[in-house]
Amino acid sequence: MSLGEAVIDLGAVAANVRTVAAVAGTELMAVVKADGFGHGAVEVARAAVAAGATWLGTTSAAEALHLRSAGLTTPVLSWLHAPDEDFARLIAARVDLGVSGLTQLHAVAAAARGLGLPAQVQLKADTGLSRNGARPEDWADLVAWARKYEGEDLFRVRGVWSHLANAERPADPAVTRQIDAFEDAVRVARDAGLDPPLTHLANSAAALSLPRARFDLCRIGIALYGAGPPGLRPAMTLRSRVVNVKRVPAGTGVSYGPDHVTARPATLALLPLGYADGVPRAAEGRAEVWLGGRRCPIVGRIAMDQCVIDAGDLPVRPGDPVVLFGPGPDKPAVTDWARWAGTNPHEILTGIGARVTRRYQLGEARHR
Ligand SMILES: *Cc1c(COP(=O)(O)O)cnc(C)c1O
Repeated sequence: MSLGEAVIDLGAVAANVRTVAAVAGTELMAVVKADGFGHGAVEVARAAVAAGATWLGTTSAAEALHLRSAGLTTPVLSWLHAPDEDFARLIAARVDLGVSGLTQLHAVAAAARGLGLPAQVQLKADTGLSRNGARPEDWADLVAWARKYEGEDLFRVRGVWSHLANAERPADPAVTRQIDAFEDAVRVARDAGLDPPLTHLANSAAALSLPRARFDLCRIGIALYGAGPPGLRPAMTLRSRVVNVKRVPAGTGVSYGPDHVTARPATLALLPLGYADGVPRAAEGRAEVWLGGRRCPIVGRIAMDQCVIDAGDLPVRPGDPVVLFGPGPDKPAVTDWARWAGTNPHEILTGIGARVTRRYQLGEARHR
């Protein structure tokens, strides 16, 4: 085992797909951007597809093509393109392209013409998030051009979609306004002669708790990984081992600063993971890990490569296992780390560094 290991339970990923499918009752797109939220895009994609996901979602061309080169033939939607994106290789790889504006639309059409193959296009409406997607005043033009290109056999318009700004708060009136705006966008597209087989708006939170947002398909990220929404199984366990132990008297400074001085004699256990590995520096003074059968605090500043656990009077030894987060009622969860660091579970998971080795297991996770 390396200094740190992320054990990924693909059985949990599969179970989460089935759980969300049962609640949402729609097709599911497994969102495997950012290397599957740090879990490994290809491994997660395979597990999700085997469990019934019919689509895969990625941000970048490289991510989409990586799935294809791994042999995955499942439909893939990729939605964030470089200004000079080489669309031809994506069209050739049968990757659906999210299209957000006219410049992009024309570039995709030109690539399709050059290749002699129709592009699979999913038009994105901006319904209130103000990131990607076409604004309502530009939408009619976008769908008219898409229809024209479809007539020339350069496009197959396979979807109309958008993304919610506040799906975690289903009661927010802005959510209702976004759903209404999305329905308008779909209507305008149909009136222009398009007949997109897929309309989709929901992320994990909406898939689980916002029936009106579900449409034909839900794009699930965080639910797949079981970090956040209740009733799902956490897929990742982040673990390590103690590499050094020392007994220190009261009044001992710990780590840089020192920000922390021991109040009583303590056994300090050195954990060989730091912020370069994804242990957030911002969690200083709040974070806990699982060591010796209980939760122990990380004390002092979290360094790039290591941090210090106050094990109190526990009989800790080098080599003892430490769990930073993982399933189980007592161990810290990713959501705890998100709270300690003032962020969301997504950032914790995608922040796990490249030095942490990924290991895969199927079925029930076993953890000490
Ligand atoms: C990341 C992302 C998702 C998944 O969001 P979760 O909240 O993690 O389910 C869905 N759709 C789009 C467009 C995204 O960028």
